[in-house]
Parts: sequence; structure tokens; C-alpha cells
Amino acid sequence: MIKGLTLLSTRIKQKVNSALLTERCVSCLAPTTDHGLCAACRSDLPANTPACPRCALPLPDSATGLCCGDCLRDPPPFARARIPWRYEFPVDRMIGRYKYQGQRKYGRPLMAGLARHLEEALAREPDCRPEALIAAPMHPARRRQRGFNQAQDLAEYLGRALDLPVLRGRVHRTRRTPTQRGLDRAGRLANLNDSLTLTGEPPASVAIVDDVVTTGATARALASLLKSAGTQRVELWALARTPAPVSPRPHPAVTPPAEQWPDWR
Ligand SMILES: [Zn+2]
Ligand SMILES: [Zn+2]
Repeated sequence: MIKGLTLLSTRIKQKVNSALLTERCVSCLAPTTDHGLCAACRSDLPANTPACPRCALPLPDSATGLCCGDCLRDPPPFARARIPWRYEFPVDRMIGRYKYQGQRKYGRPLMAGLARHLEEALAREPDCRPEALIAAPMHPARRRQRGFNQAQDLAEYLGRALDLPVLRGRVHRTRRTPTQRGLDRAGRLANLNDSLTLTGEPPASVAIVDDVVTTGATARALASLLKSAGTQRVELWALARTPAPVSPRPHPAVTPPAEQWPDWR
């Protein structure tokens, strides 16, 4: 009996501790958090401003309000991109842990922040509200390898937060494309050529959801496909955008130094 109670109290203590710990900031361990990130760490996230209003490419301060050269030369098939952060520290580490190590608690603060960002944007521009969301596709083999599709996970989260339907199982990669990492934009477009197919008729306005936009090649390919199937307006929503130009270098390690990213579990 006593033994049983001791066991029970230990279990309760463990539960209470783990409940308290899950309320701590994923970056600095401060106890007060907003979806897993404290106010100070949230305000330190690298905001994607100024950025190209069309594709959200990060731009220097001197280019505020201007479109990037790519969009001027070759306008993308999506009307605009809404991407609140730059793919820099600590956003890159947070997404890396979420995406490659399946630690959703690192993705959650960013997902909640993106939902808030979109909510505010759509309140200002209600005509831009899409009829449905669609996740950037991932090849099933890669999904099996990773265990989940982070773009689909993000689309489902945003669908619930913004009360928008999510289109599922409508886009497929018809053959496995080598990883996009390390390829320049032309390489990525060639890599994606003919690899996407769409089933059924898409709605008139759709937002494509992805975690990180690098060259925008996947979004361009999917937006073109949607438009050729009858969609009138496409937006691109993502957590983070990489700065240009993209140099073909190996992906940075996703495991940061222990002192910066304590893991208390
Ligand atoms: Zn913090
Ligand atoms: Zn642009």
C-alpha cells in the first residue's frame, strides 16, 4: 500500500514536473511562454522585412517596397507570398529540429506565430482569404524516411487555426526527385520538371503551404499546375524564406551547441 502510494506520488511528481517543463521557452528555458517561446525570444526572431512583396525574398533595407529582380524578370504564378521570418538562427535550428528530428515543440512557436501573422493579414485584406490550403508535396519515399510531411502538418495546423479546409491527397510527385538542397534555381526547376500531378478540380483560390521556401521552385511548379487546372489566384504561405543567392553548400548541422539549446527532457 505504502509502496503503491510512493509510486503514485512519484508518478504525480513526474507528471507535474513535465507539465511545468513543457511551459518553458524552447530557447532560453524562461518559465513564461507563448506557444513554447517567451516574449523576449519571440521578439528576437529574424523578421523577414524588408522583403519582396511578391515572393517574400529577403531584401536589403534600401529596397523597402520594391520587387526583387526575379519577380520583375519572371513573375511567379502565385500572387504573393506571406513568410514572416528569415531562415536564419534561431529559426533555422527550430525548423531543423522540428523537420529532421521530429521534435514538434520547436515547430509549435513558429506555427502559432505564422497563424497569427496570417490572421492579421487576412483581417486587413479579406479578399485575399483563400478557399482552401494545399501542402507542398513530398515524395512518399521521403515521407516514409522522415516519418511525416512537415508541410502537411503545418497546413493542417493553419487550417484549424484559420478555419480553412485543407486539400489532401490531390498533388503527387510522380517520380522521386533528388533532394533540392545544393541546386541553384535552374537546377531545381529542371529537377521538378514533370514530377507533379494534380487530381480533381481545385478551388478558385488556394494558398500553398510549405515550411521553408528556398528558391520558390516547388511553389512555382505547384502554382502553375493549380492555375492550369482552373485556380484563379494562388498565394504562398511559409514559416521562413532563405536569403538570396543560394550557394550550393551543405546544410548546416541541425543540432546546435548544448549551451544554446538545452534539452531538459
Ligand atoms: Zn526565451
Ligand atoms: Zn520576388
